[in-house]
Amino acid sequence: MRIERCSNKDCNRPFEVSEYKLQMPGTKEREDISCPHCGYTYTQISNGFFRMRSGNAWFIRKDGKVILMAENIKENASALTRFKRAERQRTGAKSIKRGQEIPIAVLVPRVTLKRRFDFDGTVRRAMPQLAQSINRYLNRN
Ligand SMILES: [Zn+2]
Repeated sequence: MRIERCSNKDCNRPFEVSEYKLQMPGTKEREDISCPHCGYTYTQISNGFFRMRSGNAWFIRKDGKVILMAENIKENASALTRFKRAERQRTGAKSIKRGQEIPIAVLVPRVTLKRRFDFDGTVRRAMPQLAQSINRYLNRN
């Protein structure tokens, strides 16, 4: 399995190519490799055949950023709903076409997460109630 990029300049999308070799000596022939996105076809020598599959998601490098792109295909429709909405809002497009690439995420080299659990503050806030409970327990009898 390998990833190729479509040589059709208008497409240039990546897809997966798997070569299935057959045990037949002396039968090397030119076999078709077709881009699953646009159908652009070229040939390569093989003694078997090729199978192509379009990737559902892949990374691209743009303006120094690494962006995760996904292909708008039926199988991914529900998972991509919010990303399609964001893309429509950003570009002003009325709809996202089938097969169109949309950005999903930007890879960042490092993140700093804010501390969410404030242990000291939580204890401080609970202290009066805790003291009250202890007093109530001790004054029970
Ligand atoms: Zn193509």
